[in-house]
Amino acid sequence: MSRFFIKVFVPGPFFEPLTYSSDKPIEAGLRVKAPLGSREIIGISAGEAIEPQDLSTIKSILEVLDDAPVINPSHHALIRFASDYYLAPPGDLLLSSLPTSIRKGKPLPPAKTEQGQSQPPNYPLTDEQQNAIDCVNQASDDFQCFLLQGVTGSGKTQVFSELIRKTLERGKQVLLLVPEIGLTGQMVTRIQQQLTGTLAVSHSGLADGARAKAFIAASQGKADVLIGTRSALLTPMPNLGLILVDEEHDGAYKNQEGCRYSARDLAIVRAQQMTIPVVLSSATPSLESWHQAELGKYIRLRLSSRPGQQPSPTIRLIDARHDKPKDGLSDASRRAIRDAIDHQQQALVFLNRRGYSPVLMCTDCGWIPGCRHCDAKPTLHRHPNVLWCHHCDHRQQSITVCPECSGLNLLAVGLGTERLEEALATTFPETPIIRVDRDTTARRRAFEQLIQPVIDGDPCILVGTQMLAKGHDFKNLSTVIVIDADQGLSGADFRSVEHFSQLLTQVSGRAGRHGARGQVLIQTHRPDSEWFDRILKQNYDELAAAIMAERQQFQWPPDTYLALISARASTAEAVFTALGDVAHAIRALNSPVRLLGPAPAPMERRNRQYHGQLLILGKRPLLQWVLKETGPWAYKKRGKVMFQLDVDPWDLW
Ligand code: ADP
Ligand code: ZN
Ligand code: ZN
Repeated sequence: MSRFFIKVFVPGPFFEPLTYSSDKPIEAGLRVKAPLGSREIIGISAGEAIEPQDLSTIKSILEVLDDAPVINPSHHALIRFASDYYLAPPGDLLLSSLPTSIRKGKPLPPAKTEQGQSQPPNYPLTDEQQNAIDCVNQASDDFQCFLLQGVTGSGKTQVFSELIRKTLERGKQVLLLVPEIGLTGQMVTRIQQQLTGTLAVSHSGLADGARAKAFIAASQGKADVLIGTRSALLTPMPNLGLILVDEEHDGAYKNQEGCRYSARDLAIVRAQQMTIPVVLSSATPSLESWHQAELGKYIRLRLSSRPGQQPSPTIRLIDARHDKPKDGLSDASRRAIRDAIDHQQQALVFLNRRGYSPVLMCTDCGWIPGCRHCDAKPTLHRHPNVLWCHHCDHRQQSITVCPECSGLNLLAVGLGTERLEEALATTFPETPIIRVDRDTTARRRAFEQLIQPVIDGDPCILVGTQMLAKGHDFKNLSTVIVIDADQGLSGADFRSVEHFSQLLTQVSGRAGRHGARGQVLIQTHRPDSEWFDRILKQNYDELAAAIMAERQQFQWPPDTYLALISARASTAEAVFTALGDVAHAIRALNSPVRLLGPAPAPMERRNRQYHGQLLILGKRPLLQWVLKETGPWAYKKRGKVMFQLDVDPWDLW
């Protein structure tokens, strides 16, 4: 009997596919069942291997599960790149990107797609929109990265629709990435209306069965368009002609578990590998993308105004030192909300903190509960009545008696969305209040149901966290109030100001997208901060240039590249010894990378463990080399110390 040797991507800490034997050839991309250690695993064939020298350890494949490849060859190249760049095992990356049923070796489900409604828009494109579309179309057979930089409400989604139409006409597929589950719904509706073709949707909020059907639709070329969140980037698409990344600056594109890939960055790599264009869009591009556009490496496409002379909203600072907020709202804010409601419009009250109140305090002795497992204070929630640590998720029944002094005067200090909702309901008893945060949207489809009245235009007050900041097009929303704008500017992370400005611009962009001019009120105790000056001008380029100058001065990304090595263990000593050894090994390489640390993480004790970190900064190839020389990092443990590598971290948490 002839014997074949097959490379197989398997889960676990393997940087190369493992070699198995088989009595028949097994095409790359088929799922196989094979033994690994004492287990049976599902792996993906990577095609034929050369005959290994030592045959004694070679095991045979137990079963081939598919007739046709589930993963196409171009996808292998993407996985290979990501594995190399993020120093993560390719098998893990490949398998973890599959819907659970497919990963576990279940039979493939049928493809499922939605039909587009082929309704063209009832307005002509603006010149800027037309120009953007023409530019991308001209590059349809080339790799080129475009940055579609348009103010909020300038019609970026319409540009996407048109680009999709053109790409489908050429018989190609389109991948459209959106940052959040909440955004997919509205995006799908808008794209579907105009689409002449079929559509599949994929995000982690879907049941696995639905995700699997979308995966099959896209990977078998049956869906013309795939719309999805981060993980959708890793869906094979045999006939891909264009990638679109909406709100490209959004942190949700960065995977924070397992392999810390950036779906936006990999989208660019994927486009390059397939020689197709990719369009990143944002009103507030990440400094990384903005910088590439300044350098001319990305082609910038501008949409500088809202179509139909719809003016940008007016933005005003409310000095909270004088107009002191009561229950979170200053008088000016209260009047603005009242005004919106009197005009049958909607108001959005933005507060990036869920729960009832961030601190519970005994007013007799000053005692404040801390989290048992973290350096954090648990947030008081009222429904249910718990003290809830947002860092480790530990929950305990809220208390009514102070454990220190037995006093009964426990006071909820500060404001979360739950409390704000309560206060608004008292002030505006006749108006529906809709709270949107992680707590009210935990159930599947809860988000869509909650915001339906908002989409329908019913007068109401929306209260919520950053879930509301992004992308939504609420036609009747005229007024935005930002409750606490001080937090963002005082953050310790090197990207604090960037992220805060982006958030503020995005929230503001929800106001007055149609009809009357929108207004935005920002409550702050620091109205004279120079950053507010820049944000109020609503000139993102000026703001970005100022941030970039700062980054250049201190040589932080995107002026250079950054990798973060985190370590955690039960004691600080173990963490620092382990990180010290790593630092030593890196220094011994004598390369001109910059090392910062070992240092405690911004929150040292988290989830019962001590956290420390080491930052490495340097030119890209050098940084990769240093990481490789000192790796492997995946699954790395030293005694009881666990390591985690994050290449291009989004924050330094
Ligand atoms: P963005 O994605 O840039 O935030 P949208 O694509 O949501 O902006 O567009 C904002 C609104 O303007 C949408 O309701 C859209 O239907 C409308 N719109 C887009 N392009 C045009 C146009 N050329 N003329 C008139 N209205 C437009
Ligand atoms: Zn007390
Ligand atoms: Zn905790």
